[in-house]
Amino acid sequence: MQLKNCSKCGKMFQWVAGDVVCEACKKKEEDEFQKVKKYIEDNPAVTMNQIAKDCEVKLTKIQQWVREERLVFAKGAAIDLTCESCGEPITTGRYCAKCKAKLATGLGNAIAKPVAPPEERKRLNTGHAAMQFLKK
Ligand SMILES: [Zn+2]
Ligand SMILES: [Zn+2]
Repeated sequence: MQLKNCSKCGKMFQWVAGDVVCEACKKKEEDEFQKVKKYIEDNPAVTMNQIAKDCEVKLTKIQQWVREERLVFAKGAAIDLTCESCGEPITTGRYCAKCKAKLATGLGNAIAKPVAPPEERKRLNTGHAAMQFLKK
């Protein structure tokens, strides 16, 4: 254990592991999360900006919770959340269910190369052209 300054409030606290955030700030964040979660349940069609304003929570914080899949929006919510891979509208996280399944089977390869399918096609086309050339 060691003493560290909380990255949020600057207070000294006994840091054990993980984020450098004191208990009080952790508790505050949990309260904020619950507030936002409840707010979304009561107002499913609200935008993220509106949530941030009404709950007095930073927009980036809400986006982080969404990426971590802690916050899940209702289908048809007014949030502008799309799959980072294919652009499909999604309600939580970073990828749609289809892309998530693809990423899981690709053992993470697809994350580094989201443009794999078009590249593959290009290679096949080139191969085809080369074959045509050989036939002549
Ligand atoms: Zn703190
Ligand atoms: Zn997708």
